[in-house]
Amino acid sequence: MDVMDCVVVGAGVVGLAVARALALAGREVLVLESAHTIGTGTSSRNSEVIHAGIYYPQGSDKARLCVQGRALLYDYCAQRGIKHRRCGKLIVATSSAQVEQLALIQDKARRNGVDDLQLLSQQQAQALEPQLSCHAALLSPSTGIVDSHALMLSLQGDLENAGGVIAFNSPLAHVHIAQGAIELVTADGTRLRTRALVNAAGLHAVALARSVKGLDARHVPGAFFAKGNYFTLAGKAPFSRLVYPVPEAAGLGVHLTLDLGGQAKFGPDVQWVAAPDDLTVDARRGDAFYAEVRKYWPALQDGALQPGYAGIRPKISGPDDVAADFLIQGPATHGVPGLVNLFGIESPGLTSALAIGHQVAGVLMLHHTEQ
Ligand SMILES: Cc1cc2nc3c(=O)[nH]c(=O)nc-3n(C[C@H](O)[C@H](O)[C@H](O)COP(=O)(O)OP(=O)(O)OC[C@H]3O[C@@H](n4cnc5c(N)ncnc54)[C@H](O)[C@@H]3O)c2cc1C
Repeated sequence: MDVMDCVVVGAGVVGLAVARALALAGREVLVLESAHTIGTGTSSRNSEVIHAGIYYPQGSDKARLCVQGRALLYDYCAQRGIKHRRCGKLIVATSSAQVEQLALIQDKARRNGVDDLQLLSQQQAQALEPQLSCHAALLSPSTGIVDSHALMLSLQGDLENAGGVIAFNSPLAHVHIAQGAIELVTADGTRLRTRALVNAAGLHAVALARSVKGLDARHVPGAFFAKGNYFTLAGKAPFSRLVYPVPEAAGLGVHLTLDLGGQAKFGPDVQWVAAPDDLTVDARRGDAFYAEVRKYWPALQDGALQPGYAGIRPKISGPDDVAADFLIQGPATHGVPGLVNLFGIESPGLTSALAIGHQVAGVLMLHHTEQ
């Protein structure tokens, strides 16, 4: 059996960005994807926000990769004509107690290299967004929105132009670390051998890693799932910027985002679930949205919100734990040559995708030259 150079599991935005980076670096790349097309997982069930990199702990991978990824993403979108808009975002203090938190958020952002936040008084914020109710706000001019599907199509195009191949309807079922190669078996029984394997299986990355024969289970984190439900607003969007409350545990609060067509949606909320399989939106969860949204948009009418869609955050920390960082785990940690696991790639994973791609390619190029 021939030995492949690199196999990437998962054709979400992160798997595609990793596969593209490897292919552009001259590696032979095969992507295995269980679904019939790209981006059917979390990559098409998110807010499509290009995050600035504000909230993440200083020195974390989330902070570093978001800031790097954001710059790469804006450049890439501009070069390739991918629809995006640097619309800006307001983080709003809806009580006087929250006003102090805005200064803390601004400090945290500065430490992450995000130094363009502007503290606005109530009047200044309302001059930008007349329907907004707040005590004060922070304006993030470098936050934006992107057409995530157009982004993924472009990544797929780059990958394929560089000789990479995506095998759809090809779930990876078994992995065995053998001498000199990693052995793979897909669900239909196809056997492959590869020198490098990148596990970018999103919600299934932990389960896949657990099933790898030859990987010490101590290196595989726990899997937790936090569903985020969205509710859409019928009619014209009340704001032209994204509006976020001061963040709460596990998510960024019920915020207003816009799509590139100008449609507004609210969410995602945080609903811890046992398994990542149910993506239906329970209409009753909308009841809690009204009170949250009216804190910053009192004009929201009863009945204006309709169930939209849901996405599930692939978490590696539970509801009572300190929020985990991205976990990009290569041979230096687990000792298996050629294996990179991507765990907990929740938000800001879309923003960070190009930077994650560079990092993983770097880990594997190092491994390649060391062999
Ligand atoms: C509610 C929500 C809102 C978010 N909002 C934002 C945002 O505004 N901005 C931002 O930057 N990030 C956001 N994110 C995060 C972002 O969406 C994710 O980080 C990103 O999409 C993860 O991409 P991925 O490629 O790792 O995973 P996925 O898109 O889930 O792709 C994984 C792929 O692997 C495939 N797969 C799984 N198992 C196998 C297997 N055994 N064999 C073959 N294929 C397999 C799946 O079919 C899937 O296509 C949000 C996330 C959520 C849940």
